[in-house]
Amino acid sequence: MKEGDDIVVPYAWGKISTPSGEYEFYYPKGIWWGCKRCGACCRDASHRPRRVLLLPSDVARLEKAGEKDFKLDIKGEEPFVGEMKKAGGACIYLTKEGCKVYPHRALLCRTYPFWIERDGRSFEIMFDRRCIGFGHGGELREDFFRDLVLQALEQRGDA
Ligand code: SF4
Ligand code: SF4
Repeated sequence: MKEGDDIVVPYAWGKISTPSGEYEFYYPKGIWWGCKRCGACCRDASHRPRRVLLLPSDVARLEKAGEKDFKLDIKGEEPFVGEMKKAGGACIYLTKEGCKVYPHRALLCRTYPFWIERDGRSFEIMFDRRCIGFGHGGELREDFFRDLVLQALEQRGDA
């Protein structure tokens, strides 16, 4: 069982086999979620600043798409090497129509409101209960979380 800000959920265990070996992951059970495209995860909130940390693969993808001057360099938060710039408390790529770089967005943008904490070959999937998408959409099952872990492995060059 894991305790978030206002929720306690059971966790389940899963296993992944990749060419680089076996991994295990722990994921929340009994979660219903669907993105409402509100854009709240692309900007600061009253309870926390939004930090979109960037992997080397995120930076490379955005640069390959022709983007420049989008990151602040950071140190001591490996494997992340940068943080997406903001303007007026929102990501520089957030527009009224949505994300300007959607196909090239960072891994953390793709997985939110979930993120993954890693300990060697073991992954634990955390989530931000404040996302308004919880309670909507379908029930998220093991395959959904397995895909999140696989994405993380691929982006880090481990899969
Ligand atoms: S992930 Fe959540 S906070 Fe972000 S746009 Fe979707 S519903 Fe809004
Ligand atoms: S890159 Fe796109 S999805 Fe990610 S925070 Fe910026 S606007 Fe949102």
